[in-house]
Amino acid sequence: MTTTLPSYDDVVARYEPVIGLETHVELGTRTKMFCGCPTDFGGEPNTRVCPVCLGLPGSLPVANKAAVEATIRIGLALNCSIAQWCRFARKNYFYPDMPKNFQISQYDEPLCVDGYLDVEVNGETVRIGIERVHLEEDTGKTLHVGGATGRIHGATESLVDYNRAGIPLVEIVTKPIPGAGALAPEVARAYVTELRDVIRSLGVSDVRMEEGSLRCDVNTSLNLPGEEWGTRTETKNVNSLRSVERAVRSEMLRQASVLDAGGRITQETRHFHEDTGDTTPGRSKETATDYRYFPEPDLVPLAPDPAWVAELKAALPELPRLRRRRLQQEWGLSDLDMQSVVNAGAVELIEATVAAGASPAAARKWWLGELSRRANETGVELADIGATPAQVAELQSLVDAGKLNDKLARTVLEGVVAGEGSPTEVMTNRNLEVVSDTGALTAAVDEAIAANPDIAEKVRSGKVAAAGALVGAVMKSTRGQADAKSVRELILERLGVQG
Ligand SMILES: [Zn+2]
Repeated sequence: MTTTLPSYDDVVARYEPVIGLETHVELGTRTKMFCGCPTDFGGEPNTRVCPVCLGLPGSLPVANKAAVEATIRIGLALNCSIAQWCRFARKNYFYPDMPKNFQISQYDEPLCVDGYLDVEVNGETVRIGIERVHLEEDTGKTLHVGGATGRIHGATESLVDYNRAGIPLVEIVTKPIPGAGALAPEVARAYVTELRDVIRSLGVSDVRMEEGSLRCDVNTSLNLPGEEWGTRTETKNVNSLRSVERAVRSEMLRQASVLDAGGRITQETRHFHEDTGDTTPGRSKETATDYRYFPEPDLVPLAPDPAWVAELKAALPELPRLRRRRLQQEWGLSDLDMQSVVNAGAVELIEATVAAGASPAAARKWWLGELSRRANETGVELADIGATPAQVAELQSLVDAGKLNDKLARTVLEGVVAGEGSPTEVMTNRNLEVVSDTGALTAAVDEAIAANPDIAEKVRSGKVAAAGALVGAVMKSTRGQADAKSVRELILERLGVQG
């Protein structure tokens, strides 16, 4: 079936989107949710397992207190109410990577409910309602081998690794988000970005989307203005912030084309494809009754002491939004400038560079200029570019000391990024230091004057502006390693002209 998609502007002019996000975060606890197995990433398959996380008969789970504490802290940071009493529930479904044939999760009694997270979109604050934050266990991983695509179709064998089975997983579910209109894709992205930053600031997970420790499912529906909300689809496991935005947009376009043709949206899960930016249908969505939830009989209820919860609340760190506000003031940036720092993922980097001695303006200049450009060109995250905040601060101190000019500093930075050492080492090894030896500079100036007698004469006769050509010649012969201002002064001095 080939259909022509309507334009995005056309879609948002005629339909109203409602989005919702379900985010899974793998907690960075030392041990699994209900047993003592280690949780480190990697390891030989099926070596980090025990009778409990393999679901062997007779084994009994015990809840991990550190995971409960981390979940409560996430709930508090998201302005939720913390349940004084709640239970785990069994979610029954069969899947090979789930050894017990059920997942211990929470159902109608989640640990945290009814909160919100404020996010910034285009300079406006959008309040995203949080329906619930609950605790569950992760599944294992299935690997399909023997086929070309790594998918089950065409595979000759499927292998299961249970190392991940039982790792504590927090699920954070938003309330439906209507009213975002054309900005719906950006709101979705801003929410996941802010959520990631909040969780990172709590230190409870490394929230790496590419490694799957933060995974996002995106719900999207469309309705005509004034009518009921439409049927939603759920796009699964969207693996980057950019993909969150693309997944919402692509699903809005697809649904509009179905609705325009008089069709109906099927409630289903869909898979997002990074390469094409499209979604394709997965399974039709189970409803809660299909899972036959019931309270987990092998675990006692959770009843967090309110005094403990109050303690955890009082000990929350400064949350990212407040921290950004404070840094914006300290750095003297406009809202727009701060936004570009945030968008570049440079807040922590600039903060660390300033802490290492650079001025906020200089730190921002390097990270948002030269280094962001390189990160974009090479497709790596700014934080992984190969230069550290301490090195950037050192580079700027060499500029401030007059040892490097701007152009030379860029070349030095190139060497630092290439792994050639610290800025001072690169400057020394590549012999890039500004020529400050007056003897050498005078010789270069005299050479330029001798080589350009006509220009020299013009300058002598009072056309000082013509000296620019001589400065250029000296800069060229010193491979850019002279200070242009000193060169100019020296040329005028040698020609007997006042500057
Ligand atoms: Zn185990």
